[in-house]
This record gives sequence, C-alpha cells and structure tokens, in this order.
Amino acid sequence: MKKEIEDKLIQKHTKPTTMRILVYEVLMQHDIALSLSEIERAFQVADRVTIYRTLKTFEERGIVHRISENNTSKYKLCGETCTAEKHQDRHLHFYCKHCKETTCGTTIQLPSGLDASVKIDEVRFFATGTCTLCLKKGLQ
Ligand SMILES: [Zn+2]
Ligand SMILES: [Zn+2]
Ligand SMILES: [Zn+2]
Repeated sequence: MKKEIEDKLIQKHTKPTTMRILVYEVLMQHDIALSLSEIERAFQVADRVTIYRTLKTFEERGIVHRISENNTSKYKLCGETCTAEKHQDRHLHFYCKHCKETTCGTTIQLPSGLDASVKIDEVRFFATGTCTLCLKKGLQ
C-alpha cells in the first residue's frame, strides 16, 4: 500500500513525505469526498495546518480535486486523467441531504471548452437529494 502511494506521488512530481502518504491513504480509503475536519479525524495527532497544506499541494499537482460546497471544501482523489495543469473533474457532484455525503457522479460530465475566451478556476456543478443508501432506509 505504502509503496503504491509513493509511486503515485512520484508520478505526480510530489515528494512522498510521511504526511503526504498518510493523507493520501485516508482519501484512498473513502469513496466519498472528505472535508478537512473529516480527514483530521482520521489522525490521532492532527495538525490541521499541515493537513491543509498537504491538500493544497495535492490540488496543485493534480492529485486531489476540491469540491466547494456552501462554506466548506471537500477533497477527493483525482482520476488518472488529471494533471497539474488541468483537472478533468468537471463532473456532477451529488450531495445527500440526509447523510451529508458528497460523491462524484462521473457519468455526467460538463462539456469541455465551455468558453475558450475565459479562464475558469472552478466549476460548481452540483445536485442535492437523497442517496441510494438513504432511499433504501426510507428517507426522501
Ligand atoms: Zn483532478
Ligand atoms: Zn445519504
Ligand atoms: Zn468529483
């Protein structure tokens, strides 16, 4: 596992420090997008600033994408196609109002080249509702 993460980081031109490996591992263990506090909770001794910096680096290197949700950001490991120059994460995100989990809905993609005359920093493409698991529990 550790070696695998090291290789992934090196591939993205990122030095595999202990902290980076740990943060990557936490993200890898979740299919849902995690907030800074959720990532912090996975650590026994958490240094919020260091985790935040790690995520920032990951974002710049095309390792994670940041999803802006109201007032918080959530982080999810990027797909193989992401590079530092260009994140390919213009897909629909789904937020469940019951369990408050955010997932990447990769089946619906925003068309690229939306407007070539502007530089887009961030696309907010969001759906909210009830996820499969919560629907099964009878929530609506
Ligand atoms: Zn990305
Ligand atoms: Zn749910
Ligand atoms: Zn996503």
